[in-house]
Amino acid sequence: MSKILVIAEGKDGVLRNVSFEAIAAAKQIDHDAEIVGVVLGKEQLEEQAEQLVHYGADRVIVVQHEELKAYTSEGYGQAVLSIISEEAPDGIVMGHTSIGKDLTPKIATKLDTGLVSDVIEIQQNEGRTEFIRPIYSGKAFERKTITDGITFVTIRPNNIAALEPDTSRNGEITTKDIDIKNIRTIVKEVVRKASEGVDLSEAKVVVAGGRGVKSEGGFKELYELADVLGAAVGASRGACDAGYCDYSLQIGQTGKVVTPDLYIAVGISGAIQHLAGMSHSKVIVAINKDPESNIFAVADYGIVGDLFEVLPLLVEEFKALKN
Ligand code: FAD
Repeated sequence: MSKILVIAEGKDGVLRNVSFEAIAAAKQIDHDAEIVGVVLGKEQLEEQAEQLVHYGADRVIVVQHEELKAYTSEGYGQAVLSIISEEAPDGIVMGHTSIGKDLTPKIATKLDTGLVSDVIEIQQNEGRTEFIRPIYSGKAFERKTITDGITFVTIRPNNIAALEPDTSRNGEITTKDIDIKNIRTIVKEVVRKASEGVDLSEAKVVVAGGRGVKSEGGFKELYELADVLGAAVGASRGACDAGYCDYSLQIGQTGKVVTPDLYIAVGISGAIQHLAGMSHSKVIVAINKDPESNIFAVADYGIVGDLFEVLPLLVEEFKALKN
């Protein structure tokens, strides 16, 4: 039986959904594998460990350390490498998040092994596990097979569905002491620039504004719609460059990649660099006053009109539906 490590990731004491998706991915790699979850942090991680078991982990290793209070590649790297050397896994899966993107290449280098990043689908084909990932800003897909060494992958959030949690599942949870030392990076403070609402990269619904929104004040209307829908707010680089919103909201080739169930593009023209970050959304709705706008080429539903007239109507309708 093979063994696959799933490195979980939390934010503000809560596990990110991609951690559960990573367990489902591990099972897709090898249904019979022993899935070992890894939870890192400073304290109070028991609940997170139990949650991983509910979502399919057979065993969970918890590492609590002062140096793991905030993410640093050195601290997390030392902890994960120590677990890998003890557990000798056949596979490692982590989310393709900011932390996953930073940590996994460093670990792969230390292990002198390959890494398939940003996987959106896993298929079994004639006895081979194939990993499908977008390339050229989402214009094409490649299939990769790992023929040698550890199967090391990161998965894009919102693409591989997590299993239904089963609260009756039991699994061994062990706490491991690891000597983490010589950390040269000191995190003094974590400043959150984005709104405290729904996490953009994991949101099921995204309302994104572009230069057409015309001002910081114009974004208020977007937040109203997002509030009613329980959505996260995103933006095009055009809107960020114009100073209407923070760069942490930018979606696209040089911003965040999102795959929500519903993406509402408001006053966004649909430049190729923007499409790279959102074109794999399940349903795309575009609101634009220009019927020739490129965004309509990828939209499932298009509303041709002035966003300042359309948005209040949508907010009113969705509010009425909720009541
Ligand atoms: P515009 O192209 O100006 O579009 C505004 C749209 O709003 C228009 O279609 C207009 O018809 C519509 N509009 C105006 N007023 C209204 C109204 N009242 N009602 C309804 N519709 C209205 N861009 C990204 O988004 N993400 C990236 O990650 C990114 N990376 C880049 C990397 C590189 C190397 C380069 C060169 C560019 C990158 N860009 C990126 C920029 C990209 O090329 C576009 O310039 C940008 O996406 C345009 O933003 P926009 O659609 O908001 O603005």
